[in-house]
Amino acid sequence: MRKLKDFPYSNVVVLGLARSGTAAAQILLANNRTIRVNDKQATEQDDVVIQLKEMGAEVIIGSHPISVLDGMDIVVKNPGISYDNPIVAEAMKRNIPIITEIELAYHLFDGPIIGVTGSNGKTTTTTLVTDMLKKSDQPVRVAGNIGIVATEAVQSMENNERLVLELSSFQLQGTEKFRPTTAILLNIFEAHLDYHKTLTNYKQAKFNIFRNQTENDYLIYNAEDKAITEEVKDARAKLVPFSVQQKLETGAWIDDKYVYFRNEKIIELNKIVLVGEHNLQNILAAIAAAKLNGATNEGIYQVLTTFSGVEHRLQFVENVNGRLFYNDSKATNILATQKALDSFKQSTILLAGGLDRGNAFTDLQPHLKHVRAMVVFGQTASKLKELADDAGIDTVIESQNVEEAVNAAYSISMENEVILLSPACASWDQYRTFEERGDMFVQAVHKLM
Ligand code: ADP
Repeated sequence: MRKLKDFPYSNVVVLGLARSGTAAAQILLANNRTIRVNDKQATEQDDVVIQLKEMGAEVIIGSHPISVLDGMDIVVKNPGISYDNPIVAEAMKRNIPIITEIELAYHLFDGPIIGVTGSNGKTTTTTLVTDMLKKSDQPVRVAGNIGIVATEAVQSMENNERLVLELSSFQLQGTEKFRPTTAILLNIFEAHLDYHKTLTNYKQAKFNIFRNQTENDYLIYNAEDKAITEEVKDARAKLVPFSVQQKLETGAWIDDKYVYFRNEKIIELNKIVLVGEHNLQNILAAIAAAKLNGATNEGIYQVLTTFSGVEHRLQFVENVNGRLFYNDSKATNILATQKALDSFKQSTILLAGGLDRGNAFTDLQPHLKHVRAMVVFGQTASKLKELADDAGIDTVIESQNVEEAVNAAYSISMENEVILLSPACASWDQYRTFEERGDMFVQAVHKLM
C-alpha cells in the first residue's frame, strides 16, 4: 500500500460504499486512520461490509444519521452524493472538509498527473492522451471518471509513470490540494445543474482543475470558450491554448491542411480517422498534453491514423460493401445527435429513437440536410417520423429495435453512404444501457458481413 502524504486527518468518514468508497476506506485503514463508513443501501451481508469491519472500520448502514460526523475530521464523499444530503450539509455547517477519492489519490502519488475535464469530450481526450503516450513508449496509466478507481490505480504505480485522470465536475468539487502537472479544460456547457444548482458553482468546480497549479505546470484550454478564457487569466500555470479557428503560436491549432503544435507540423488533417469538429478539438488538446509530456510525433501519428473513437461515441464500426457504419449510441440527447450529424457531409441514413422524455425533436431539423433516409424505433418512433416528414425526408422506416433497424437501413442503402446510429434518446425503453444498445448495433453490423 502506498503511504498517504500531507494528509493531517486521523478520523475519516467515508460516505457511500461504491467502488471508490470501498477503495478509499481500505487505503485509509492501511494508513492507520480511524474510519467510519456510512452507506444507506448496503446490508450486513455484503462482502465489503464484512471485510471492512474485519479490517477495523466502523460501518453504519441503512440510513444517514447525523451522528456519523461526531468526532470526525474529514468526509470522503462519493462524487454521486449530492451536497443536499443531510450529512454533507451538516458537515459544511460544522466546517468539516469534504473531499472525493481523487483528492486522496493525489496524496498517494508523487508523479506527474495529466487531468482532463470539460462538459463533453473527457473520455475521448483522456483515451487519446493515454494512447499517444503509450505509443511513444512513455510509462502511463489511466484512471478516474473513465471507470478506473484512481486510488486503486496509483497503488501499483511508480513515480516515473504518468497518471492520466478523467475528472468530472462532481469529483473536482471535492478537491483541496489536488494539483495536476498538466490540466486540460475542454469546454463548459450548462450541465448537471440539478447537482451544482447554479452555472457558477458548476464552473467553479471545473476550475478547481487549475486552482492549485504552479508556474511549473501547464494549463491546456479551449481558446474559443469565453467562460474558460476569462477565468484562466487568473491561473498561475503556463497557458497552452488550442483552437480549430485561429493560429496560436503558443498552442495547438490547424490550417486547412495540417495540425500544428506551436510551430511544428504534427499530422495532415486528412490522415486523421476520427470524424467531427468536436473531436478535432479533443485531438488538439490531446496533442498538446502528449507533446508536453514526452510523446513523439511518430507515436501521435500512429494513434491518430488508427483510433476510430471511444466505443459508442461516434465510433467507426465497419465498412460493409462501401457502407460506413458509425455507432454513436452514447448520443442520448438532441445536442449530441446534432454534433454527430454535423460530422458528415455525405449522404446519411440516420437510426434514431428510444425513451420518450416528452421533448420535441424540431431542433434536429437544421442538421438533417444530408440525411436521405431515417430508420426510427422505440417510444419516440412516431415523433421522429413526424420530424422526417417535416424535413422532407421521403424514406422513413419504423423498426422494432436497433438490430432490425440495421438490416432495414442496409437494405435501402447505397454505396458510400454513412449509416449512423445516433438515437437522440436514452435507451431505457428497450435496453438496459446505451452500451447494450450500441453493442446490439455493432453485432447486427457484423452479421451483415
Ligand atoms: P464525456 O466523457 O465528457 O462524456 P465523451 O468523450 O464520452 O465525453 O463524448 C461524449 C459525447 O460528447 C460525444 O458523443 C459527442 O457527442 C460530444 N462531444 C465530445 N467531445 C466534444 C467536444 N469537444 N465538444 C462538444 N461536444 C463533444
